[in-house]
Amino acid sequence: MARVYNFSAGPSTLPVSVLEKAGAEILDYQGCGQSVMEMSHRSKVFDDIIKDAEKLMRELYKVPDNYKVLFLQGGASAQFSAIPLNFMNGSGKADYIITGQWAKKAYQEAQKYGDVVAAASSADKTFSYIPKTKAEDFREDADYVYICYNNTIYGTKFNELPPVGDKVLIADVSSCALSEPLDISKFGVVYFGAQKNVAPAGLVVAIIREDLLGNARDITPVMMNYKVQADADSLYNTPPCWVIYICKLVLEWIKETYGDLEGMKAYNEKKAKVLYDFLDSSEMFKGTVVPEDRSLMNVPFVTGDADLDAKFVKESTEAGLVNLKGHRTVGGMRASIYNAMPYEGVEKLVEFMKEFEAKNK
Ligand SMILES: *Cc1c(COP(=O)(O)O)cnc(C)c1O
Repeated sequence: MARVYNFSAGPSTLPVSVLEKAGAEILDYQGCGQSVMEMSHRSKVFDDIIKDAEKLMRELYKVPDNYKVLFLQGGASAQFSAIPLNFMNGSGKADYIITGQWAKKAYQEAQKYGDVVAAASSADKTFSYIPKTKAEDFREDADYVYICYNNTIYGTKFNELPPVGDKVLIADVSSCALSEPLDISKFGVVYFGAQKNVAPAGLVVAIIREDLLGNARDITPVMMNYKVQADADSLYNTPPCWVIYICKLVLEWIKETYGDLEGMKAYNEKKAKVLYDFLDSSEMFKGTVVPEDRSLMNVPFVTGDADLDAKFVKESTEAGLVNLKGHRTVGGMRASIYNAMPYEGVEKLVEFMKEFEAKNK
C-alpha cells in the first residue's frame, strides 16, 4: 500500500497509527461486538468515548474549570452565525479583525445580527500580514472582539493577541487547533472545525467560558444555542459519534507521541523551519507572508510564474506529494503541514522543490 504525503488544507492527513487503530476496531469496538459507527449515542460505551475525548481536550489545552468543552456540528461556518446569536447580546455591537476569507465570512454573517465593524484589516496587502491593533481600535462597549487566529488560506497567524483589555475575545482556531499551547483563559470562546487538525469532517469543538452562556437571542435555532448544548453535555441530539471517537484517538496520539502541546509545538516548529528556511534561500520559490506573522500550519508560496506553478503542482502530485495547489484566491502553492504531517513529508517536499528549481532554472 502506498500512502501519499497529503498537504491538503482540510480535510487533511491523519496519523497513520490512528487510522490503523480505528481500522482494527472497526467491526468490534473493544469487545462490545459493534462498531462505533453503529452504537447508540446514549450507550455507556459511547459515553465513555465522549467523556474521554473531553478529558483529553481539557488536559492538553489546560482548559480552566470555568469553561465548557462542547462537541458540535455544522462546521466552523455554522459558528459564524451562532456566535453573534449567542454573544452579541449586550450593546449588540461586535468588532472583527479581518485577516482573510474566514474572518470576512464570519464578519459578514454577524452583520445580519447587529452593529458589526471591522476594527482592522489586512485586505490592502492580500492578507499577507496580521494588522497591529491598539486598545483604541476596539469600541468600548463591543460585546466581543473576533479574530481568526490562524488564517488557513493566507498562511498568517496571530503571534500576539490584540489588546482587547477585558472585552471578550473570540477566536476561530480551526487550522491551528492543538498545534501549540493556547492560554484559554485569555479568550471567552475558542472554537475549531475538526477536519483541519483533529479528526475527519463533521465535528466542531467549542470551548466557552461558562458565564457567557445563557444569553442567546430568542430567535437562536436550538441547535445553535450553546447553553442548550452545554446543558445536554453535547448530546442534545445525535452527535457525530464516529468523528468524536477519531478525535479521541488523535488526542491520545498527541499525548503518547509528543507528551503535551509544548512537545507538539516543538515538532511543528521543526517541520515549518525546514520549509521556511528553504523558501528564504530559494531563488525560485517565495513565501507570501511577512516572516513575523507566518503560520506553523499553512505555508503558501509562489514562483511568480503561473505556468511554472502549474507544472510544479502537476509534477509534485506525480511524485506523491499531493494537494499542494494554492487556494483559488491566492494562486501558487500551499503546503498545509498540520500535526499529523510527518517531518519526513516536509523533508521530501523540500527535496522535491530543490530538484524542481535546479531543473527549471
Ligand atoms: C476551514 C475553515 C473554516 C470553515 O470550516 P467549515 O467546517 O467547512 O465550515 C472556518 N475557519 C477556518 C479558519 C478554516 O480553516
